[in-house]
Amino acid sequence: MSYTNWSGSVSFTPGEIARPRNTSQVARLVKKARARDSTLRPVGSGHSSMPIFVTDGTVVSLERMSGLMAADADAGWARVRPGTGLRDLGEQLAQYGLAMENLGDVDYQSIAGAVSTGTHGSGMTLGNLSSTVIGGTLVNGLGEEVAFGVDASQGEQHDLLRAAQVSLGALGIFTSLTLRVEEAHHLHRQNWITHIDWVLENYAELVESNRSMDFYWYPRSDLAQIRMLNKPGEEPVLTPEGQPHSRLKTETVGPNYQIIPNDRHLPFEEMEYMLPFDQELTAFRQVRERIKAKHRAQVGWRVLVRTIAPDQAMLSNAQGRPTMTIALLQNTTLPYQEYFEDIEPIYWEFGGRPHWGKKHRLTAYELARLYPDWDGFRRIRRQLDPDSIFMNDYLHELLGEES
Ligand SMILES: Cc1cc2nc3c(=O)[nH]c(=O)nc-3n(C[C@H](O)[C@H](O)[C@H](O)COP(=O)(O)OP(=O)(O)OC[C@H]3O[C@@H](n4cnc5c(N)ncnc54)[C@H](O)[C@@H]3O)c2cc1C
Repeated sequence: MSYTNWSGSVSFTPGEIARPRNTSQVARLVKKARARDSTLRPVGSGHSSMPIFVTDGTVVSLERMSGLMAADADAGWARVRPGTGLRDLGEQLAQYGLAMENLGDVDYQSIAGAVSTGTHGSGMTLGNLSSTVIGGTLVNGLGEEVAFGVDASQGEQHDLLRAAQVSLGALGIFTSLTLRVEEAHHLHRQNWITHIDWVLENYAELVESNRSMDFYWYPRSDLAQIRMLNKPGEEPVLTPEGQPHSRLKTETVGPNYQIIPNDRHLPFEEMEYMLPFDQELTAFRQVRERIKAKHRAQVGWRVLVRTIAPDQAMLSNAQGRPTMTIALLQNTTLPYQEYFEDIEPIYWEFGGRPHWGKKHRLTAYELARLYPDWDGFRRIRRQLDPDSIFMNDYLHELLGEES
């Protein structure tokens, strides 16, 4: 039986696909693989487009380990099973009067899969989903359950928590995650269409005055779609009204877990890098010039610019710096490789760190310079998985570990 990811760009045939129902079954799978000198790779919803889940051993799908386990509204935390889909999580948290702080563009991912690659939304004061992980449990490469963060009475600075928050399924298989959550709240979404020049002129004010703001730039028309999300009553007065081409495209109000995510049914490939925040949008301006000069005729989709608050996770691409992200999107039916590879060096010039779940070409040699805790993460990985049963060829190259 083969396994194929969401976009169709990663396809392989594992030895087996296992769907454990509880921690003991996960531990048994790990011990069995170890005894056979085989490997395992955990998967969530398969929305990543790098070969991080490839194995000829066992693919471990956590889809049967789903749902909210416990929540404390007063203390602001919730404990969830790893395979819980983000959409279900939103609905279940709402029953306790709680909500995630932020979400990405869609809610199809599992919580464990989403945090493992540092999935993020947009907002200068809103961290990625991994930064809301305050504890949890995982089954390590020896088949033992290991608790971390608040689940092990460790503080937020503890290295094991900071390693686990973004860990690419390389430390073990999460069997639960404890998340910092907020009081349930509504958001008011406004999507504006305007000219990119207006966004460039007003960007600093737009990111500063909105709880969450991002924009799409459409290379063929030079128009932009600005998406602003605020709590009702806290919206800034700033709008592009009255500017050439501007119009309010959509406006909705509702619970945050319904308002933030969008429906995406057309498969696409994406390359997204996280760069130090720059209100002048210097890197974006260079990307735009390059696309206009060389790729405009072939680019079917748009370029997305978002922001992320800094965090402390060892492999978070927003670690230690206010961050902006620039993503190239291209339909899977169109060529993307030459386009992505031509733009990628611009990101490198600005110290960009790639999204772990999206297309990029960096390996350990370059990545080690971008992450101050690179060696710390690798040390913890070796402690938790001494026989490297969670590694595959791609992760060996990515993390610079000998096979
Ligand atoms: C349509 C679409 C929209 C997207 N939107 C955004 C966005 O807005 N923002 C953003 O940042 N990203 C976005 N992404 C990327 C996506 O969020 C990430 O690739 C995410 O990791 C996918 O989650 P998943 O559940 O599909 O996990 P998978 O892709 O299946 O796995 C991701 C990683 O998690 C690991 N993993 C899964 N379960 C476990 C477990 N139980 N224990 C340990 N490791 C585990 C896997 O081994 C793998 O390394 C998008 C992708 C698509 C296709």
